[in-house]
This record gives sequence, structure tokens and C-alpha cells, in this order.
Amino acid sequence: MALESLKDIVKKIARSTTVDKALVEEVVRDIQRALLKADVNVRQVKEISDAIKKRALSEDVLPTFNVREHIIRIVYEELMRGIGEGLEIPLKKAKIMLVGLQGSGKTTTAAKLAKYFKDKGMKTGVIAADTWRPAAYEQLKQLAESYGIGFYGEKENKDAVEIARNGLKALKDYDMIIIDTAGRHALEEELIDEMIEIAKATQPDYKLLVLDAAIGQLASRQAKAFHDAIGINGIIITKFDGTAKGGGALSAAREIGIPIAFIGTGEKVEDFERFDPAGFVSRLLG
Ligand code: GDP
Repeated sequence: MALESLKDIVKKIARSTTVDKALVEEVVRDIQRALLKADVNVRQVKEISDAIKKRALSEDVLPTFNVREHIIRIVYEELMRGIGEGLEIPLKKAKIMLVGLQGSGKTTTAAKLAKYFKDKGMKTGVIAADTWRPAAYEQLKQLAESYGIGFYGEKENKDAVEIARNGLKALKDYDMIIIDTAGRHALEEELIDEMIEIAKATQPDYKLLVLDAAIGQLASRQAKAFHDAIGINGIIITKFDGTAKGGGALSAAREIGIPIAFIGTGEKVEDFERFDPAGFVSRLLG
């Protein structure tokens, strides 16, 4: 019978008292199936399953661990290989620049991030430097105002670099500044140039890529293109409340070796969480 979820996989291992080849192969097959279904990149699924097979059989079960814990630990470590436990942004003065394709949820995420840091007691402001999507200015302004977040924008100005620069001056007394930037439907040269110029002008401490969980397998290519263009420090996955299990986003993070920082779980500003690797893995396999 095909196993459907991590719970079933765990149950199966739990009945075993020894790690033998047949058990490992069976478990790996189940995990492979789950990862592919969750949109993890095929090449990575192969790498991950080879590593699990090899390690599960060759490494000793730690004295305080049972077989189940031994295998789960390896599965978890292999899935998170190269991207660690998630990006933690310390609560000190910083500038965050958000980048991503149009519709990925950047503007919403700017407000979510701002509220997140405001709730931690920081004086937080946002800069509306998305001059491409006409509604972005009003959207961010309204969200900022309703949550008591500082706002800077210039409605009539199309020069995003200038707005970003002016925004930093206007918000100089703020602890945490979040810069929303324009997206396009694809990563065009003009967009790349603008991102580079905004980054140069604002010197952000973090450049976070906003990725829609629903783009699945396309996530890796998109993340790589953004990373090559401006160098990303972290990823925010949006629309995690949908049906997507986030395997595409995980592949993207592993592909470029960049940690995931936050997860968007709905349209409301409150629907936002720090990335939790354990929860992520159980959803991925579940
Ligand atoms: P931008 O073009 O990247 O600035 O995208 P927006 O912030 O305008 O978001 C595009 C759409 O995605 C809007 O309808 C948002 O409400 C929606 N959205 C953003 N984040 C999430 C999320 O985490 N979950 C869901 N369900 N919708 C989201």
C-alpha cells in the first residue's frame, strides 16, 4: 500500500527495532514519492534520497535515539542541507529590501514584515518604491496607516531610486525600514537595473526574495535569476495557505543555498510566521 504521509512513514519505522536495508529502501521510496508530489526538484529528490539511504545504514544510531528518531533526524538534516534552520533577523536597526515578481505578494509582505517588527517593539517604517504597479502605493500606505507603521512614498514620482533615497532620509529615526520594490511578470533587464540601483542607493542589510509557493518547480529558476542579479540573503514564501506544499520553494532555497526567513499564510497582515523547519518538513511530507 502506498504511504501517504509522514505520519504513516513514521508509524512504519516505529515498528522496527533495527535499521535494515529493506526498511530504509521502503522508507526512502515513500519519502521520494511525497517530495515529488510536493514539487521538490527531481534532481534534489535523488540527492536527498541517496544521502538518506547512505547515512541511515552507515551511521550508528545515537545511544539516546531509537530507529525512528535516527531516520527522521537524517531525513530532516538532508532536506534542510545548505539552508540551515532559517534566517533570523535580529531586533536591531536594519534596512530590508524586498524583491520578487509582480503578484508574488511583495507589497502585502512589506506590511506583514513591518507589523512583525513593530509588534516586537521596534519603530518600523515602509518605503513604497514600487512605481511600476499603480495600486502598490495606496495599498502600502493604507496598510501602514492602519497598523501604525511609518510610511514614505511619492505618488507622482516614477523614479524608484530617488524615492528610496528620500525615504531613508525621511525615516532616519526609524529602527527597521522595509523597502517595497517593483516586480514585473519576468525578470527583465530594466527591473534588474532598477533593483541594483535601489540596493546601491539604500545599502540594505537584507535583500529578501518574495516567492509565491504556488509557482512550484519554477521557483528554483526564479530564485537563481534574482540571486545572480542582486544577491539574496533570505527567502519569504507567500501563499502557504494554499494547496502548495512548498517543495518548489524549498528546492529554490537549496539550489542557491539561502535560508528561508518567513512564511505568508494568508491575505491578512497577521497571516505571517517565522519559518519553522520542523513544521515545514512535516507539511512537505504530510
Ligand atoms: P505584489 O505585486 O508582489 O506586490 O503582490 P501583492 O502584495 O499585491 O499580492 C498579490 C496578491 O496575493 C494579493 O491579492 C494578496 O492579497 C495576495 N497574497 C499575498 N500574500 C499572500 C498569502 O500569504 N496568502 C494568500 N492567500 N494570499 C496572499
